[in-house]
Amino acid sequence: MCRKKINFLNILLIGFTSLQVCALDVIEGQSGEIISIPAPQKLSADQLTFKTPSGVKQLVSLPFVKQDLLITRHHIDIKVNWVNFGESRITITDTSKVTLNDSDQARANREALEIKEALKSSTTEITPSFNFIPPVPGRVTSPFGKQRFINDMPRSAHLALDLSGAIGTQIISPLKGKVVLVGDYFYTGLTVILDHGYGLFSSYAHMSEIQAKFGDLLEQSDPIGKVGSTGRVTGPHLHWTVYFDGNKVNPESLIQKDYLNSIL
Ligand SMILES: [Zn+2]
Repeated sequence: MCRKKINFLNILLIGFTSLQVCALDVIEGQSGEIISIPAPQKLSADQLTFKTPSGVKQLVSLPFVKQDLLITRHHIDIKVNWVNFGESRITITDTSKVTLNDSDQARANREALEIKEALKSSTTEITPSFNFIPPVPGRVTSPFGKQRFINDMPRSAHLALDLSGAIGTQIISPLKGKVVLVGDYFYTGLTVILDHGYGLFSSYAHMSEIQAKFGDLLEQSDPIGKVGSTGRVTGPHLHWTVYFDGNKVNPESLIQKDYLNSIL
């Protein structure tokens, strides 16, 4: 009887210990960041890997979260830590751009699908270096992740980076990429999306002029267009979005020096 009890206790202890080991092993990262994880033995052709002194790694994007969240990505459990990105309140006096009428709503829905389609498949003909340079020299006017309130109504968080620039300021390609979308959209105005390969995309919105053409292969520093205030905006600026591995990620991290090495 006593023996059985001890066995049961042992099992409990073993269970507890392995749980603790698991807790220590959990990979963590911040909301909206790209992190590296050990690459699996078997890889699909569209997965990018990096050889590091601690083994072969692959990059994974973490979603923007409103509280700490345990997720499973590429079969690995990852704890995504919430980050307080602050909030911003803007006033849009043209209320037709806040509460959309039926035809504007239909247009916005159609365009959202078009953008989703452009992001669906990524080329493997370009291998992204992840060594981004800023697309404009301007300062950050609205960082990634800020909770937005438009006319005091809570809206989705700002999952892009706003950079200042006067109308006509040159926007350059921050990384080699192929132009996979060019258009004039309800929310983002004159817009270009670049495919940098292996699931890495970037988008440039509110431009006054587009210089790149659909299908162009842009080298780093090649012109994309000019800063403007087209679409739903309060003034001229570049709204720069970066997508990787199915999530919008923080562009401000990508322009840090030696970014790729810092995450491997
Ligand atoms: Zn923005």
